[in-house]
Amino acid sequence: MKNNIETLCVQAGYEPKNGEPRVMPIYQSTTFKYSSTEQMADLFDLKESGYFYTRLQNPTNDFVASKIAQLEGGVGAILTSSGQAASFYAIFNICEAGDHFVSSSTIYGGTFNLFAVTMKKLGIECTFVDPDASEEEIQKAFRPNTKALFGETIANPVLSVLDIEKFARIAHNNGVPLVIDNTFATPINCRPFEFGADIVIHSTTKYMDGHATQVGGAIVDSGNFDWERVHDKFKGLTEPDESYHGLTYTKAFGKMAYITKATVQLMRDLGSIPSPNNAFLLNLGLETLHLRVPRHCENAQKVAEYLENNSQVAWVNYSGLKSNKYHELAQKQFTNGQSCGVVTFGLKGDRQRAIRFMDNLKLCSIVTHVADARTCVLHPASHTHRQLSDEQLIEAGVRPDLIRFSVGIENVNDIIADIEQALQA
Ligand code: PLP
Repeated sequence: MKNNIETLCVQAGYEPKNGEPRVMPIYQSTTFKYSSTEQMADLFDLKESGYFYTRLQNPTNDFVASKIAQLEGGVGAILTSSGQAASFYAIFNICEAGDHFVSSSTIYGGTFNLFAVTMKKLGIECTFVDPDASEEEIQKAFRPNTKALFGETIANPVLSVLDIEKFARIAHNNGVPLVIDNTFATPINCRPFEFGADIVIHSTTKYMDGHATQVGGAIVDSGNFDWERVHDKFKGLTEPDESYHGLTYTKAFGKMAYITKATVQLMRDLGSIPSPNNAFLLNLGLETLHLRVPRHCENAQKVAEYLENNSQVAWVNYSGLKSNKYHELAQKQFTNGQSCGVVTFGLKGDRQRAIRFMDNLKLCSIVTHVADARTCVLHPASHTHRQLSDEQLIEAGVRPDLIRFSVGIENVNDIIADIEQALQA
């Protein structure tokens, strides 16, 4: 039995048989050999399962996807070449031109652009809602052609904590699945399926990798959403797919319908797969996820408390602080109440003050990245969110003075000493 999350981090996914390598091998091969044309034809028709081309499936990628599925408690998962690809596929798997979906407005800036601009060009419209609004208020965004509800467990960079049970209730009352980006919390701190989410996505680039070595994503299916119950809403899953000689995903794959379609249709046609080498690197990160995430959170808690007591700091946002608006929800929804290693804050003074502070940091580096073992810092209004208008910035909850501080797993006293000297400089 390997059910505890720590054991799953280390051992799930790849189980060597007698005489096979103990460490998960990298199948660095685009293609797989068969001895008869018929065998290969059956694979193309999905009559048999097996590997034939890495764009669809690769054993190394599948080992890692299986580990992530088990960590989240899902029935299946696929890896994608980035978190962006995972968000796009998760929605595009059930939405087509003429469809609509609803998303929390406090999401990662790249996802906001994808939903507001690029998906619109494909004829798919998104309405953004304030995640803290009442159920009645959020309900107003739904239309007859709405196909999904989307939110981030902990929003980047606003750090709002999503009430997943509330969002699941709204989604299910409207006959649509709830898709959750669980990147910041990771399954160590939150397993959204336990609160009613149906699909989970990750930017595995972040804590799951944790060492900034690969860009990647994942989609996990809980297998819980009953697509047939709302048959006419999801014809892409419940009616024959012409590109597979009339195969119907719900009939052929049951609880695996959604994730199978994402693999055999979207991945086949759009092709955002990670290299097996990147999947290998990701797996090294996953093996220590259960050790790193609690340390990130302990360090972040101490940094947040230090900042809260510093007279140069105007405000601090971290759900571990008792003063935080999301503290109670975080206690309920997160393992040991721990959210993530990211803290946001603003300094007294103008916008330039934030820039001066960041430029004076020595140990903590300015990088676009977040959720790395090394402490890093970013000013979203100047960097990740610079494409957003002031109006969009405010809608996404990003204040111009917001500093995003991603606390690493170094000695926390060294991190705090660096903050102190940069504040004094
Ligand atoms: N989701 C969240 C919460 C993120 O923070 C990011 C990137 O920062 C993404 C998705 C996109 O992931 P990627 O950069 O791997 O494409």
